[in-house]
Amino acid sequence: MIENRIFVTKSFMPPYEKYIEAIKPLWDTHWITNMGIYHNELETRLKSYLKVKELSLMVNGHMALELAIQAYGFKEGSEIITTPFTFISTTHAIVRNGLTPVFCDVKLEDGTIDENKIEELITDKTVAIVPVHVYGNLCNVEVIENVAKKHDLKVIYDAAHAFGIEKGDIGVGNYGDVSVFSFHATKVFNTIEGGAVVCAERSMYDRLYNLKNFGIRGEELVEEVGANAKMNEFSAIMGLCNLDYIDEVINKRKERYRLYIKHLKKIKGIRVLNTILPNERFNYAYLPIVVEEEYGISRDELSVYLRKNNVYARKYFYPLTVEQECYKGVYSDDSLNNSRYLSNRVLVLPLYAELQEDLICEICDLIKSAKTSEL
Ligand SMILES: *Cc1c(COP(=O)(O)O)cnc(C)c1O
Repeated sequence: MIENRIFVTKSFMPPYEKYIEAIKPLWDTHWITNMGIYHNELETRLKSYLKVKELSLMVNGHMALELAIQAYGFKEGSEIITTPFTFISTTHAIVRNGLTPVFCDVKLEDGTIDENKIEELITDKTVAIVPVHVYGNLCNVEVIENVAKKHDLKVIYDAAHAFGIEKGDIGVGNYGDVSVFSFHATKVFNTIEGGAVVCAERSMYDRLYNLKNFGIRGEELVEEVGANAKMNEFSAIMGLCNLDYIDEVINKRKERYRLYIKHLKKIKGIRVLNTILPNERFNYAYLPIVVEEEYGISRDELSVYLRKNNVYARKYFYPLTVEQECYKGVYSDDSLNNSRYLSNRVLVLPLYAELQEDLICEICDLIKSAKTSEL
């Protein structure tokens, strides 16, 4: 049994003094929100880090996604093709826009949308595709782009898990019409709470500016019906501080990830659900394993066993969004076999920059011994 509880992640924080020093100027200006200088500086620095043209900071990833969808002004009742194997936010963002999610199954090998099943779901009401780079696994962006072009659909990527990922020299945020990131405390890069929409067009940036700031364009001018989704200066400064450490954080995650792989490789029936292309810069945000039949005991049994030993792995994503209380029976879900399979078999193991390496060995030993132990 491991002595102290280990959770699936631990929010990265900069050294205390560094943050305190960085927020000091706010006590001179008292400008603590409303597109302050740190908000603007973080937008500039993130654009360059993510290698994207335009970036609009938001109060969180969910509002980023909700407003990105809203920005297109789709007709109420239009359909958006998406996947159910994701955090509930993806589905909520579509539904809260008055649109209908149409669920496409995912691929067993990586949990991303099955690009070959998208076309059969397209109707004359379809307006967009919202795929998810789940666990940082890149969707098949080329095929998705072709399908979208052919049918004149928008592609809005939920890239909440994909911060810092690059394919060749291309930042992940360049795929699709827009991509959305989350900077929530539990993500690879955090601003405590926060998020961003990235895109290529200035007109989209302007539209999002209105939507995140009540549509206010001047002291006496409200241009449109906007929400409030601005990032405040304390969060922006947290982001600026954390950005100084992001490469170190990803490298540390990578080392720990590799140690896991070395041990997990030897365990029959345990498969790591990540696909990393040879020319890809990955972010090692999660360590999802699939507990296959061959392993001997079920995912749920393994999860209970790990908890008894103080390892709080998580069943991301169970239940599927479509099977949650609020959606059950509302949308059709009978063709989602792979999604259901993964949802019943995936367990995300603890992974973060500060995770001690000897604990990783212990966690792997527990997974090795779980099948033969008294449950
Ligand atoms: C975290 C997350 C979101 C929402 O981001 P918040 O910043 O928590 O609002 C959306 N989609 C996915 C896949 C996520 O993991």
